[in-house]
Amino acid sequence: MAQILDGKALSNKIIENIREKTLLLDKKPGLGVILVGENPASKVYVKNKEKQALNAGFNSAVYKLPENTSKDDLLKLIDELNNDEGTNGILLQLPLPKHLNPYDFLDKINPKKDVDGFHPVNAGKLMLNEKPYAVPCTPKGIITLLDEYNIKLEGANAVIIGRSNIVGKPLSMLLLNRNATVTVVHSKTKNLSEITKNADILISATGRADMVTGNMVKKGAVVIDVGIIRDENGKLRGDVDFDSVKEIAGFITPVPGGVGPMTIAALIQNTYELSLKE
Ligand code: NAP
Repeated sequence: MAQILDGKALSNKIIENIREKTLLLDKKPGLGVILVGENPASKVYVKNKEKQALNAGFNSAVYKLPENTSKDDLLKLIDELNNDEGTNGILLQLPLPKHLNPYDFLDKINPKKDVDGFHPVNAGKLMLNEKPYAVPCTPKGIITLLDEYNIKLEGANAVIIGRSNIVGKPLSMLLLNRNATVTVVHSKTKNLSEITKNADILISATGRADMVTGNMVKKGAVVIDVGIIRDENGKLRGDVDFDSVKEIAGFITPVPGGVGPMTIAALIQNTYELSLKE
């Protein structure tokens, strides 16, 4: 039976550690989160981020804009936060309402305040392995969790299911930069389970419940479940069929309590680190 990779416990430890370091600073780090519209999942995520930022001893502000916010109004707020000395990290919560294209805004955030690491400058630095100002939170949190459990990345055969700009692609770069052999698969990939069965580290980020079953996993593999799906009963599920996979895998993340809290821990780390760079 697989060992649980306890993201919640590690996240609490990281945030507590940052809280202690923050107490020693002259000026509190400041996180500004922009929430446009009424997406229920986004509201929950933003609330959690604010709560943990306050737990870390930061100043945290949530800027709530209505669903029908214009492009100009959102650009104006980003500009104000770019120029606000008290704001070290700016996070634009995605997804945006349909009439707004995220890429019209992500590259307007000052890269030195880009706490999510989505600005093209930071994405480019990550690709070049040249110290981005910040690394995307979910991939960073996953690497931190793997490191905590001493899971060897160098030479490991890592397979990522999903190629999004926020999870799959940046994670592939982080793993490659750590000398893993990386395969990224997606909805057009043929013979998916033939590929996943070779993975020493299998990471699934599709948002499809029970996408990964025990027969797709190599014995002893490390299985990381990024997916967050709310089922018809309101229960949180992941991409991984936990019951069948736990019998085969060597390590597994639970949902909830795995990657989710590690994403928030990485956000807190990024905010803290950006505040030191100013
Ligand atoms: P996304 O942008 O929708 O990307 C999903 C990826 O999965 C795409 O690349 C898609 O392939 C691939 N995919 C979908 N169905 C597939 C299938 N049947 N076989 C193989 N690949 C398939 O999603 P995302 O933003 O990366 O998020 C993925 C999941 O992670 C969601 O459940 C999201 O809520 C969750 N998430 C969790 C955290 C956290 O903190 N835990 C953070 C971010 C996201 P194509 O590119 O070919 O369409």
